[in-house]
Amino acid sequence: MRRRRLLGAAGLALFPQVAAADELLDTAIKGQLDVAIIGAGLAGLTAARSLIAAHKKVLVLEARDRIGGRTFTDMSLGFPVDTGAAWISAGPLAKELGGKLQAGAEVGTFALGGKPLTVEQAVAYGKSNAQMEAAIKEIRTKFPTADVSQLLHPVQPADQLAFFLLVNRPPFARETGLEGGVGAAVAKFGAKVPVRFGTKVLRFNSTQPIVEIVTPAGNFAARVVIVTLPASVLGDGHVGFAPPLSQKKRDALAAVTMASSLRIAASFRPDALKSPPNAWLSGLSRAGLPFEAMVRPQNRDAVILMLSGYAARQIEEAGANAAAAFALTTLAEVYGNDLRAAFLGSVASRWARDPLALGAWSVGAKGTDAVLAAPHSERVLFAGEATAEPVGTIEAAFASGLRAANEAKALLR
Ligand SMILES: Cc1cc2nc3c(=O)[nH]c(=O)nc-3n(C[C@H](O)[C@H](O)[C@H](O)COP(=O)(O)OP(=O)(O)OC[C@H]3O[C@@H](n4cnc5c(N)ncnc54)[C@H](O)[C@@H]3O)c2cc1C
Repeated sequence: MRRRRLLGAAGLALFPQVAAADELLDTAIKGQLDVAIIGAGLAGLTAARSLIAAHKKVLVLEARDRIGGRTFTDMSLGFPVDTGAAWISAGPLAKELGGKLQAGAEVGTFALGGKPLTVEQAVAYGKSNAQMEAAIKEIRTKFPTADVSQLLHPVQPADQLAFFLLVNRPPFARETGLEGGVGAAVAKFGAKVPVRFGTKVLRFNSTQPIVEIVTPAGNFAARVVIVTLPASVLGDGHVGFAPPLSQKKRDALAAVTMASSLRIAASFRPDALKSPPNAWLSGLSRAGLPFEAMVRPQNRDAVILMLSGYAARQIEEAGANAAAAFALTTLAEVYGNDLRAAFLGSVASRWARDPLALGAWSVGAKGTDAVLAAPHSERVLFAGEATAEPVGTIEAAFASGLRAANEAKALLR
């Protein structure tokens, strides 16, 4: 009874003393490792913690020099900015990460071409949004494989904005964040997990009872491997498998697309932003690019802009400075040119350009997650946000890590 309370809902709270990464490295080279986990994102860290709690010898191999993958909290502006996942709902993951949930937007506003909508225009926008939502739903029900962007072509700017935001709606709710940042909480969650950094996996050989892992830094071996690489990275052919992945799995990987999402945080001198705190701004810039923004989040003199779809791709492709320039121009259109002089700095993500992510989150057809989750030649298991519902979220990454850890435990019994 007491033990059950200690383990907690996800069975992760018990964390025995972990051997140092160097010691485990030796074990991994000799092929005496129970489980090698590839990728130190949330899925990999979750699987590692669960296996360590079950006293298994585990080592995570990670190509970057940090843990967290597509969760990262940047502190360069003097306050936490999540450049990856930022929204988290109350539930098992939030409980496991700890920290306080932070309320998101409290008021909503709209701006078209830099001009805030009047109350009447906002009401008209709401109506057009509802009509657009119904039209999209009808198309998706009648023609599930059709691309709605090819079938609906809204003409009015308000309709265009409503349509764009509906089509690019993310798979997670944007209602609550985490005090201190989701990325920082994930980094804390995985801090004790043994990780070999700078280790890019190139190939798996599971033709023998011990699985071999090939990297430029040498070969490793383990009884079981859990692969948590993004579907985009697995699908681009740079990671090899012997024997080859089944045709079904390769088809499922090919069917996954990556959403484009760009987060830009800009900070300003005190009182420069004439807006209530925690205001959600949706708009079209004068150049016609759709955006959303949290203005003065948690009462800070800052704005977090969120771009998706073609808008995110356009700014990411335009180079490293384009994000700051877009943020400043777009916000100056809405809040006035004086804002430019009050600009202090900005940070932005570029996940589509990151070869270890190749995009923001997975979007897969129904059922793809189950195919991607299925083991390969018995001892190579899969986890990650593309292998569980709701696909493309930190909740899916977490759930998949727990599931793969349980599969590994069953194989090691
Ligand atoms: C801008 C943005 C905003 C988002 N917002 C939210 C949100 O608010 N809420 C939400 O629920 N989700 C959000 N997401 C999605 C969420 O971040 C991901 O679904 C989740 O973090 C994925 O976790 P993962 O462990 O499956 O993959 P990852 O975090 O990508 O982990 C995989 C790891 O594998 C490593 N790797 C890659 N290739 C190799 C290799 N060859 N060898 C070794 N290591 C390798 C990578 O470096 C990475 O650390 C967002 C994503 C982005 C990009």
